[in-house]
Amino acid sequence: MQTTKKLNNGNTIPVLGLGTWRSEKNLVGNAVKFAITKAGYRHIDCAHIYGNEKEIGKAFTKVFKEGVKRNELFITSKLWNTDHKSENVEKACKKTLSDLRLDYLDLYLMHWGIAFKNGTNLEPLDRNGKVITDKVSIQETWKAMENLVKKGLVRSIGVTNFKTIMLVDLLTYAKIKPAMNQIELHPYNTQVDLVTFCKDKDIAVTAYSPLGRSGIHRDSSKGPKLSDERIVKKIAAKYKKTPSQVLINWALSRGTITIPKSVTQERITENFNVFDFEPTQEEVKEIASLNKDYRF
Ligand code: NDP
Repeated sequence: MQTTKKLNNGNTIPVLGLGTWRSEKNLVGNAVKFAITKAGYRHIDCAHIYGNEKEIGKAFTKVFKEGVKRNELFITSKLWNTDHKSENVEKACKKTLSDLRLDYLDLYLMHWGIAFKNGTNLEPLDRNGKVITDKVSIQETWKAMENLVKKGLVRSIGVTNFKTIMLVDLLTYAKIKPAMNQIELHPYNTQVDLVTFCKDKDIAVTAYSPLGRSGIHRDSSKGPKLSDERIVKKIAAKYKKTPSQVLINWALSRGTITIPKSVTQERITENFNVFDFEPTQEEVKEIASLNKDYRF
C-alpha cells in the first residue's frame, strides 16, 4: 500500500495523518510532537475552530528544532464559517499561520459551504438558538482562497463537507480546482457515490472520523461502535491487528486519505502501524456492508 498520494496539482500528501479535533489543551502539543518525532507521522490535520492551533504551533517549533524539516511535513488547516467574506479570508489564513508558526500551509480547506456572521463569536446564535448565517456565496470565498495560492500562503486548496451538487457548481467557476474534499467516512457511512464522483473529477478524498469517533457524537451522546462489530473483530483477529487498525487500513484500501485522532501515545503508534497487512477483497466488501448512512 502506498504511503503518499499525488494531488491534482502535483503536490504530494501522506495518506495517513493525525487528526486534532477535540484534542485537549495541554495534551495536543505532546500528541503532535510524539506523532512526528516518534511514530512517523508526516501529516497533521488542524482547524481554527478546534481552538488548539497555538499549542500545535509550539509543538511544530520543537519538532523543527529536533531536525525535522518543514518540507517533510504536510499541514492542513481550515477556514472557519465566520470568515467567508472575501476581505476576511486572507486575515483568517494569516491568523492560522501565525498560531501554527508557519510560513505556508500545505492545504487550506473551506470547512463548510455555509457562511456565519463575522465576529469573535465563532458560532453566533440568534435569540431562538438558531445560527446566524451571512449572505456570502461559496464562489466569493473560493476566489479569495485562490488568491492565497497566488500569494504563496498555501500550496493547495480544497473543501470539506461538500456534497456532489456543491462540487458540480464549484467546478463551473473554479480557476483552481479543489484538490481535496474532506468528508465523514467510515464503514457506517461509506458515501460511495460521492467518493466515486470525487475520484472521477480527480479530487482527492480525506476520510474524517475513520474510527467512527469511537461511538461518541459531537454532543457526547453514544452511538453504535465500529470496533465492537463482529466483522471488524473477526478480521482484526485474523491479521493479528486491532479493530482500529482494520478500520484505518480499510479507509486507505478504498483510496481515501485518512486522519484518525488520538492524544494517547500508544494509540497514535497503533494507528500508524497499518501498512503491513492486506485484507482480501471479500473482507473489504464485508466491512463496507456495515454501511447504514449513519453520521456522527
Ligand atoms: P476518530 O474516528 O478519529 O476517533 C477519535 C476517537 O477515537 C478519540 O476519542 C480517540 O481517543 C479514539 N481513538 C483513537 N485511536 C484509537 C485506538 N487505536 N483505539 C481506541 N480508540 C481510539 O474521530 P474524529 O472525529 O476525531 O476524526 C478524526 C479527525 O478528522 C479529527 O480529529 C479532525 O482532525 C478531522 N475532522 C474533520 C471534520 C470536518 O468537518 N472537516 C469533522 C470531524 C473530524 P483518544 O484521543 O483519547 O486516544
